[in-house]
Amino acid sequence: MNDIPPKELELRGLHVSLGITRGPAYVLRDEGFHFPIHSIPPSQVESEIERLERAFDETIRQIEELVSGQATAEKQLVDEIVDFHLMLAKDIPRYTAERTKKLISEDLMHAETAFHKTLQELIGLLGRSIVSRDEDVADIGQQILRNLTGKDLADFDDIDEPVILIAEDLSPSLTARLPRDKVLAFATTRGSRTSHTAIMARALEIPAVVGVPDLLNQIEEGQQVIVDGDRGRIVVNPTDRTVQWFGKRREASERRAEDLLRYRTLPGETTDGFVVGLRANIELPEEVEAVIAYGGDGIGLYRTEFLFMNRTDLPTEEEQFMAYRAVAESVAPKPVTVRTLDIGGDKFLTSFSAPKEMNPFMGWRAIRFCLEQPEIFGAQLRAMLRASQFGNLAIMFPMISEVRELRLALVALENAKTDLREKNIPFNEEVQVGAMIEVPSAALVIEGLAPLVDFFSIGTNDLIQYTMAADRGNERTAYLYDPLHPGVLKLIKNVVDVAHAAGKKVSVCGEMAAEIEFTLLLVGMRLDELSMSPITIPAVKRLIRSISLVESVPIAEDALSMTEPEMIRDYLDEKTRLAAPWTSELFESEEIPA
Ligand code: PEP
Ligand code: MG
Repeated sequence: MNDIPPKELELRGLHVSLGITRGPAYVLRDEGFHFPIHSIPPSQVESEIERLERAFDETIRQIEELVSGQATAEKQLVDEIVDFHLMLAKDIPRYTAERTKKLISEDLMHAETAFHKTLQELIGLLGRSIVSRDEDVADIGQQILRNLTGKDLADFDDIDEPVILIAEDLSPSLTARLPRDKVLAFATTRGSRTSHTAIMARALEIPAVVGVPDLLNQIEEGQQVIVDGDRGRIVVNPTDRTVQWFGKRREASERRAEDLLRYRTLPGETTDGFVVGLRANIELPEEVEAVIAYGGDGIGLYRTEFLFMNRTDLPTEEEQFMAYRAVAESVAPKPVTVRTLDIGGDKFLTSFSAPKEMNPFMGWRAIRFCLEQPEIFGAQLRAMLRASQFGNLAIMFPMISEVRELRLALVALENAKTDLREKNIPFNEEVQVGAMIEVPSAALVIEGLAPLVDFFSIGTNDLIQYTMAADRGNERTAYLYDPLHPGVLKLIKNVVDVAHAAGKKVSVCGEMAAEIEFTLLLVGMRLDELSMSPITIPAVKRLIRSISLVESVPIAEDALSMTEPEMIRDYLDEKTRLAAPWTSELFESEEIPA
């Protein structure tokens, strides 16, 4: 037996959700499978092998069921794919069964743990072959795994004590259903600060670090892990000294957060009286409590798609009406801007199977989807309109790319109003309507859009990815994904200036609004409102209260005259530290003492 304690290991990633915490690792494989790692007793070997064989047979049976009887041209293509999958479902056991059974009987592994290991080896081998079928093999392999575990995805039922979730990637919908009492924090290999998974982590106030290279090969199930969501690092097998050091850091960070709450009831007003509305982004109605606790001036973005996720049916108009009404009532008289469904990209519905796309973020997403699904869109618009008379509710369309598209969305809204009028169902006839500016083409035709709506909200998360042609969730291209790229800043400036000239207000509701490094710049560009995760409001508010508009405007002008993001970043950091020395500690890097 080896008595040497496991070595402490520090891994770096991106900080996406604040907080420091510690617990045992719970490792999810292949986006959602959790495998037991403890050994089985020898007496269980036989039944594990039987389970494995049943899962193999079940998979073949399921695929056989898909083979259709009719012979239309379309069916023929589908049948060819099904035939191919059937061949794989028979071939995979042929290549993996012997080795898997050996791992079960000699290494006493659970059937799923053993099969997963063998499957990875097979995929690794295929990846090196000329005719690679690794994706198809992975798909069918996952189907076998699902049949083995008996579940579609992890349901976290097997967690006894709170854990640190470790995964290759987490989908936004899985993140939305993480049990708060069982998952202390999470760390993933994939991901970025603006992925919807990161946004959801902030909403749930779960500390999180993403984009940690090679994470799963460096952590074993059950090992102690510290997640430092403030600085974007994790420590595996921390020594007692490190644990103590993080304990102190955690206390300091909690004190700082508590301190910031003093600004809760104060307005986001500069020293020379320019008021910036500081609103909250929410994904779930339950977050209203946090909006109030952190002193939000209402809700600037309610992402309604989460109401449609993690369920097998679509929410009815009535159900949506109740949800929107509850949110509107609980923040009234403060405003809430409810956004119409933004699915596609990295958010999908189980209740609606959309065709797989090569570039989902550039494809059938948000308003593009809604305009082609008048029933789904109509029901949502009617629900929003009905809720509009129970508070200060505005409606906003996401992903607008052109004037014609906005016109079509407004026609759908008019139709929804007509439906309600015909049925004598009341709604607020003066309901405000806005468009999100997330696509560069929209930012450049703002003159055409401005007469059609009451306000704009700039979704920088998407605006940056579409301007830079760099996927917002891809850590590989993260170096290009920069809010301070002059191309992005020029688009924002154009939107603000043209919209203001037309008398329309503009807010930023992308994650850029929440970062204090950018506050001077956004105030200097005269944004009317900033909307962000509730927990981030106090720090931005404190900063706004320590700067003036007269000093921010020339700073923004200077920044906009620069050609490289790094120059702009250094310049803004320096100006921010000068204007608000308390921000310095947040910019400093900080090493764990050796
Ligand atoms: C954005 O794109 O900035 C935005 C707020 O919308 P989402 O993050 O939901 O795409
Ligand atoms: Mg967006």
